Amino acid sequence: MADSVLVCGAGGFIGGHLVKHLLASGRKVRAVDIKPREQWYQPFAEADNHCADLRDLTACRHAAEGIGEIYNLAADMGGMGFIETHKAECMLNVLINTHLLMAARDAGARRFFFSSSACVYAANHQDRPDITALREDDAYPAMPEDGYGWEKLFSERMCRHFTEDYGLPTRVARYHNVYGTFETYAGGREKAPAAICRKVATAKLRGETSIEIWGDGEQTRSFTYIDDCVHGSRLVMDSAVAEPLNVGSSEKVTINQLVSIVEDIAGVKLERRHQLDAPRGVRGRNSDNTRIESLLGWSPSTSLRDGLTELYRWIHDRIARG
Ligand code: NAD
Repeated sequence: MADSVLVCGAGGFIGGHLVKHLLASGRKVRAVDIKPREQWYQPFAEADNHCADLRDLTACRHAAEGIGEIYNLAADMGGMGFIETHKAECMLNVLINTHLLMAARDAGARRFFFSSSACVYAANHQDRPDITALREDDAYPAMPEDGYGWEKLFSERMCRHFTEDYGLPTRVARYHNVYGTFETYAGGREKAPAAICRKVATAKLRGETSIEIWGDGEQTRSFTYIDDCVHGSRLVMDSAVAEPLNVGSSEKVTINQLVSIVEDIAGVKLERRHQLDAPRGVRGRNSDNTRIESLLGWSPSTSLRDGLTELYRWIHDRIARG
């Protein structure tokens, strides 16, 4: 079993795609999520699937038993609408990260991967739409996103100290807005690309002429397609780089531009009702990939338009089926 890989949060968006990728490359996978299996986004019969609450240390010890590599993607999280209103819940993810690190150390795991976030970056680097892309060093002096970002930054540090003090090799990827098929697109946890695809597809299917946009739409972001994210994560895991690395796209757009791309894909033009009191997050954010490109030769290969075309079709078909 020591060549087996544990994927935590396997019932979720990125975890499901990662399990699929690992199985396709011949790895043995143990997949764990708190959700019952019938709610997993992509369940795979070939994996060793378990339902467990990884906030619990005993559950983490069972999950890590006999495992060589651990990918920790388990977290109670969502888009801006969720993390701005559930700060304590986001911070409680520290239980998952702490207990999984302890279980990995005690089980003698060879590697531990932690899925961090661009939300660790200091707010003063993200206060204008035309910001400079974020380099890994911009996380300090620390002023991350309240709640979710602080917990991610704390857990990054914990990974670092588990390596220094206990010799557990840890790897950290800072994801920047990952999007793609099998992601949440309704219910309050969805992120901007999926929410906009849902709104445009719903308007088109119902013959409506307008949609609601959070904020003035001039906030900037970059978005990483899921296949690039999974490929980047595996490279980070297999690398010798212990410091956190950005796994993001540097194709920066405003939210209004994102809406225009989706409208174009859908073949509609809609009136935009800007909701200025809705959660908006930072004013500008982009990923500087210089470090991961130079160390691992990774850069995203899917354009925003191509990735959104896949996502829009997937969401449109699901809504159309009802
Ligand atoms: P997701 O919500 O789709 O998946 C997370 C999974 O973790 C869910 O299936 C959930 O049921 C599971 N989980 C939650 N609490 C658990 C617990 N106590 N025990 C076991 N499983 C538990 O989210 P995702 O988009 O796939 O994100 C995966 C990871 O990447 C998370 O750590 C997230 O913070 C990080 N991340 C994601 C993005 C993004 O844009 N999607 C950006 C930055 C960071």
